[in-house]
Amino acid sequence: MKIIMLSEKDNVAIVSKREGISSGENIGRGLNARGNLNFGEKIALSSLTRGDDVIRYGATIGVANSSIAAGSRVSHLNIDIPQIASIGEAASVAKQSMSLKPRKHEQPPKSLFFQGFLNQDGSVGTRNYLAIVPTVTCVSGVVQHAVKKIRESLLPNFPHVDGVVYLDHAYGCGVAINAPNADIPISTLSNLVKNPNFGGEAMLVGLGCEKLRKEMLDVREHSFISLQDQKQSGFEQMVADIVQQAAFHLERLNCRRRQTCPLSSLVVGVQCGGSDSMSGITANPLVGKLSDKLVSNGASVIFSETTEVRDASFELFSRISDDLVTEKLVAEFAWYDDYLARLGADHSANTTPGNKAGGIANIVEKAMGSVTKSGSSEIVDVIHPGSRLVTQGLNFLSGPASDFICGTLQFAAGANIHVFTTGRGSPYSIDGFPTIKVSSNSDLYNRWHDLIDFDAGCMLDSKKIRLSAPDKFLEKLIAIASGDKTCAENVGISNSIVLFNPAAIT
Ligand code: CA
Repeated sequence: MKIIMLSEKDNVAIVSKREGISSGENIGRGLNARGNLNFGEKIALSSLTRGDDVIRYGATIGVANSSIAAGSRVSHLNIDIPQIASIGEAASVAKQSMSLKPRKHEQPPKSLFFQGFLNQDGSVGTRNYLAIVPTVTCVSGVVQHAVKKIRESLLPNFPHVDGVVYLDHAYGCGVAINAPNADIPISTLSNLVKNPNFGGEAMLVGLGCEKLRKEMLDVREHSFISLQDQKQSGFEQMVADIVQQAAFHLERLNCRRRQTCPLSSLVVGVQCGGSDSMSGITANPLVGKLSDKLVSNGASVIFSETTEVRDASFELFSRISDDLVTEKLVAEFAWYDDYLARLGADHSANTTPGNKAGGIANIVEKAMGSVTKSGSSEIVDVIHPGSRLVTQGLNFLSGPASDFICGTLQFAAGANIHVFTTGRGSPYSIDGFPTIKVSSNSDLYNRWHDLIDFDAGCMLDSKKIRLSAPDKFLEKLIAIASGDKTCAENVGISNSIVLFNPAAIT
């Protein structure tokens, strides 16, 4: 197979021959390539004149800005971003088409289970971590020192604890605590403390003079150490207090054991980063199939990245049956448009030089590929950034597509495991949030053999391999949810959380 088309309506295809296509080479359909084309690049299937729609995924992803001969390369250089319907128009058109379009239903689910840590509130962790959460960045130096000490001298005594996670962040000093949107980083922090992977034992460390008081965090039952407390006398005393408090929580966490839990206890955050044109053909559709399987088994899936789905909003609205959920999605899109406009940007600010080098022309093409991660299930709820998931099933979480902010918001929403697709490659993994990385192409998987957990490049192989891939991927997810290490956990790398703070700093 030399090229891939995703819809009969498409007038461009993607080069899927791994070595690329040479100038003059026959690509089928009575066409010869004009110029050399690399794997992942777009090729025109018919001649286009200036102003013609460029169609991929059955949707207009651009408008030709010059004449493009059949067999030539199509890229961000010869197409412009198309006009997109307003969110209100997209919502109302999608509503009308929804009543005409029968919904797909999965096969009745088999009973599937994983081995997890059951929490008192009924949630289930895929890991058993002691989390230490600062309320302000000023305490970081002291806490980092204490964490090193805890890991070296205490942790070996608690073999049933998976590790110590320090949720370091730069927030807290000089924030305008009552400014519009200041609630977002605050509720994000509150909800991170409650993540199922921390077993209700997360501890907080603050300074004492910061505006963010413990009472504002809705974490009453969690222990809190304030470094400006009168009883603290110097660095060694502060470190000793943190270590002593950690020993208390480690003792409790160490009593916990994995037990058989239904798949419905999984909350899977999905996102992409460093995408290429194959992401929308292999990795993201594979994650979409996984998402459908999980949802049909009662699990929850959270997808996000507002700027990357905004231009495929018709697809999302057509999968919402509850008018209140439609209203929530319209409100979140409007909020994000306003946020970008206030800061002098718009949706076209998304797409990176790496995306373009990987064959993605613009944000519309990127969105059509990105949205496939969510599969075909009904969207049952929309989550405001910083808030928790409340409705089981497929949820859209509004927020930035930035990998670290998106991952942090999904983690705060209660996700206990993470799936991350990449075409260009990223060693990304958030500490405490087991991150399964999926490559969109086998070349990346082969080069990054110890960093990528699953190769979706197999979706380009035989039909048999393609059809069996979703079950294999689900097996991998269940194994990792049950305690198998991700590649990032194996090599011992992770990234810190990044809080989304759209509010003012004083
Ligand atoms: Ca992302």
